[in-house]
Amino acid sequence: MAFELPSLPYAHDALEPHIDARTMEIHHGKHHAGYTANLNAAVSGTALEGQDIESILRSCDMNNKALRNNGGGFYNHNLFWQVMGPNGGGAPEGALAQAIDTAFGSFDGFKEAFSQAAKTQFGSGWAWLCVQADGTLEVCATANQDNPMMPGIGCGGTPILGLDVWEHAYYLNYQNRRPDYVSAFFNVINWAEVSKRFEAAK
Ligand code: MN
Repeated sequence: MAFELPSLPYAHDALEPHIDARTMEIHHGKHHAGYTANLNAAVSGTALEGQDIESILRSCDMNNKALRNNGGGFYNHNLFWQVMGPNGGGAPEGALAQAIDTAFGSFDGFKEAFSQAAKTQFGSGWAWLCVQADGTLEVCATANQDNPMMPGIGCGGTPILGLDVWEHAYYLNYQNRRPDYVSAFFNVINWAEVSKRFEAAK
């Protein structure tokens, strides 16, 4: 069973004005579709064929560039579309809110740490909020399409929120103003989905 490009869980223009429809069309329909096709080519005919994507990332041979780049690209964008939504924004509640307060002092402390990771990732990459095995939270950033589940990458643990800071994610609308894109992201975060992933991962 080959990997399939998932449908967007909302319309292309659902995240406007924070993320524009044209960016979403190209990002999902071209970039994510490309990673998906190239991942299928990378695992086809190998022992990895038929494995789930989390297992592939956790055991990834980091010297296998096609697998590393496209396995990460496939998974990272799957997560990215899910943790955003048209009714997003606000702040987390319940156990996730408590864990954020414990790790970062406050929700504002988390926003500062996550934004800093996103703004200072040099070149292409991602900012992440990850859950460690003991349930504690960490923020980190990774280069290119690397993912924290890959061996020796980022802060380890399981990512429950990710922000794509490749220029293809924001350049049409924000040009070089990555900090404005990072600020706008907080208006579209689907905290209910992030909480669900937190409960599943800890
Ligand atoms: Mn992307």
